[in-house]
Amino acid sequence: MIDANCHLTFDSLWGDRHAIFQRARQVGVQLLVVSTDTCDGDRVARLIEAEREGHRVAAGWHPLFEAPTDALDQLQSLLHQHPTWGVGEIGLDTRQSPVDIGLFQGQLHLAKNRFCILHAVGPGAVDQAYQAVRAMAPQTRGMVHAFSGSWEQAKKWLDLGWYLSIGGPITRPNARRLRDWVRQIPLDRLLLESDSPDLAPVDWQGANEPASLVEVAACVAQLRQTPSEQIRQQTAANTRAWLDG
Ligand SMILES: [Zn+2]
Repeated sequence: MIDANCHLTFDSLWGDRHAIFQRARQVGVQLLVVSTDTCDGDRVARLIEAEREGHRVAAGWHPLFEAPTDALDQLQSLLHQHPTWGVGEIGLDTRQSPVDIGLFQGQLHLAKNRFCILHAVGPGAVDQAYQAVRAMAPQTRGMVHAFSGSWEQAKKWLDLGWYLSIGGPITRPNARRLRDWVRQIPLDRLLLESDSPDLAPVDWQGANEPASLVEVAACVAQLRQTPSEQIRQQTAANTRAWLDG
């Protein structure tokens, strides 16, 4: 398994990251994709360290955090220095106003020929983000993290060549909409993520961490009536294809 999106650089995980990765490895998670919320100096230092420790990393300005006026310049120079890095989380969160579509579009532009982690949350966000991506980011290898849309919306993203990612919320028995698209998506376009420390599976004890991916994989296997091992292997192969093009 590969955790396609986790926030190892957050204070709540960072100090304990070696033990956290050890526990993940013990249940079959081979690699973490570490994204962040800002490109501030301490976050960037942690991304550099995480990459040195063998993980894949992505930098970006998350829509729920305030970005400085030179946010795009900062990200551009960071990406220039780190050709292997992806971009994320970036996106739209319509629960908060005003929505900065310009910042999102600028970051999408910088994500060209890189892997990209998209956050689209709140009323209309999935469709607004889709319009922006369709208009300007055909060369971005993207995934929508914790995709919360319908199967009809999912199909549009798949037509753009994007991947869709699912995490702990799929384990909620009443997550009908999520379960609908997770059952129907072609298996070669699905990614798994812990989104830790957020969004733990329902039966998970304690703080969420990448090891919880085992519960996400088991739930997907049960929903699709597919052996768990096949889900683990195929989603890991998908994640490698998304990361490396
Ligand atoms: Zn997010």
